[in-house]
This record gives sequence, C-alpha cells and structure tokens, in this order.
Amino acid sequence: MKLSIDSDLCQGHNRCFALAPELVDVDDYGEAFVLNDGVVPDELRDKALLIIDNCPEFAISEVKS
Ligand code: SF4
Repeated sequence: MKLSIDSDLCQGHNRCFALAPELVDVDDYGEAFVLNDGVVPDELRDKALLIIDNCPEFAISEVKS
C-alpha cells in the first residue's frame, strides 16, 4: 500500500501526524507530507486507512498502482 497527500488540499490540522507519526510528518508550516515515499509497511496498513478516513480535507489517499 502507498499513500499520497495532496498539498493543495492539506490545511495543516496535523490530525494525520497525531494519529500516525510513523507514516507522515509535518513541515514548518504545519503541512503534512508522507514518509518513506508513502510506502506503508503491512503492519501499519490499519493506521494508513485511519488517517485517510480522518483527514477533514480528504487530502490523503491511497495510490493505486
Ligand atoms: S489531516 Fe489532512 S489536512 Fe490535516 S495535516 Fe493531515 S493531510 Fe493535512
């Protein structure tokens, strides 16, 4: 599984970072970005789905290959 964050949509609530700091980080402006090129280890898949569901701006999505 791979995640992507649309920086045009992200409003910097930091909710994703609070829920899954293993998968995302935030820059100095509070805007989120994916770690590890967005690649989600299998054991963190549930957390990835959680942050997709909890982003109020619908900025996080799964990259379909
Ligand atoms: S929860 Fe969504 S809007 Fe908030 S920082 Fe994360 S990606 Fe951005």
